[in-house]
Amino acid sequence: MRVERELPTEEAADLLALTRELADAELAPKAAAYEREERFPREVFRVLGDAGLLGLPFAEEVGGGGQPYEVYLQVLEELSIRWASVALGVSVHTLACSPVANFGTAAQRRDLLPELVGGSLLGAYCLSEAHAGSDPAAMRASAKAADGGWVASGEKAWVTHGGQADFYTTFLRTPDDGPRAISCFHLTPDLPGFAPAPPEQKMGLTGSHTAAVRLDDVAVPADRLVGEPGRGLGIALSALDSGRLGVSAVATGLAQSALDVAVDYAVQREAFGRPIAEHQGVQFLLADMAAAVESARAMYLVAARRRDAGKPYSRQASIAKLLATDAAMKVTTDAVQVLGGAGYTRDHPAERYMREAKVFQIFEGTNQIQRMVIGRHLTAEAVPPTA
Ligand SMILES: Cc1cc2nc3c(=O)[nH]c(=O)nc-3n(C[C@H](O)[C@H](O)[C@H](O)COP(=O)(O)OP(=O)(O)OC[C@H]3O[C@@H](n4cnc5c(N)ncnc54)[C@H](O)[C@@H]3O)c2cc1C
Repeated sequence: MRVERELPTEEAADLLALTRELADAELAPKAAAYEREERFPREVFRVLGDAGLLGLPFAEEVGGGGQPYEVYLQVLEELSIRWASVALGVSVHTLACSPVANFGTAAQRRDLLPELVGGSLLGAYCLSEAHAGSDPAAMRASAKAADGGWVASGEKAWVTHGGQADFYTTFLRTPDDGPRAISCFHLTPDLPGFAPAPPEQKMGLTGSHTAAVRLDDVAVPADRLVGEPGRGLGIALSALDSGRLGVSAVATGLAQSALDVAVDYAVQREAFGRPIAEHQGVQFLLADMAAAVESARAMYLVAARRRDAGKPYSRQASIAKLLATDAAMKVTTDAVQVLGGAGYTRDHPAERYMREAKVFQIFEGTNQIQRMVIGRHLTAEAVPPTA
């Protein structure tokens, strides 16, 4: 089903039309085979980059698309309807660019940013470690001051685009800045000692490669520090607020594609002499799926419009991530149910969507962590009753 969208301008409507056309031609025909073969579609990201879709939310002066978040996120959702792994990759790339865009020096913004958002490069974001996922402040990989910069050592885990990316926005402990200090660095795979591991064997999203990256005494030049030394955790968390919106839009697109498969099947599959869509038990299931998808879309747009208006949006971003990713899990599971036995086979994409949905409840802050963030906002914003 073509999604009806509320877009702010004609230009945005044209951008969405271009995205749909490009995604129909370049993403949809490849998704199933690449996922089955666990192939990373680097050439697809080149096509998206050439079309200007890898830098949409960044300023035009630095080579970005100058689009508001509410438009960028709907582009992500359209990509995800055709191929969730690729849409997730665009979201992670945006996350990887944002520390340089928001905290980089004038020289980094001038010299580095146009290349990062321009479309020819692909980024990765290295915050997690094997023992430090929900609690990134427990990270151990470090960068110690040395002549001309730093020496980085340790291992980052779960890096989306690990082994494929052209640059890695990496958070490392910097003990010279204080016992708990963390700083942000722009690392590239040409640095000697930078060593990605083979991809993880995953349940789903197998077209998106996820790998650990070892840092074996990597000499990091001084101009690769992003933002102030010791301020890395704040940089990481502020980037994640935006990243959670990206994940919400991708999860919504995945849920929309599962709903579409279920509706198409239900109107043509017959049982007891009529299409199963005419049995109220199935119709109500489809209605609940549609309600979940539309609520997820509405919530990420509420958060995005607050961000575009310069208002605080962290609580709304966590609510959007929680709602959209739980919706994706439920809707994809229900799509398998609507297809019956056929849904459990690889002849239909419903089972793949269900496998893909699970990780959305886990990365960019698990849904338990989103509840913690929402709860902390509620208690911080509460006005104590006057006696
Ligand atoms: C496919 C994939 C791609 C990823 N891509 C990236 C990436 O590009 N960059 C990156 O930095 N990371 C990435 N990650 C890592 C991801 O962000 C972490 O897996 C996630 O934050 C959870 O961390 P963990 O796996 O260590 O789980 P843990 O932190 O060990 O959590 C285990 C369980 O305990 C729960 N839990 C933990 N603390 C609390 C608490 N205080 N209250 C209640 N429950 C709690 C969690 O919700 C979870 O259910 C990726 C992960 C996957 C699977």
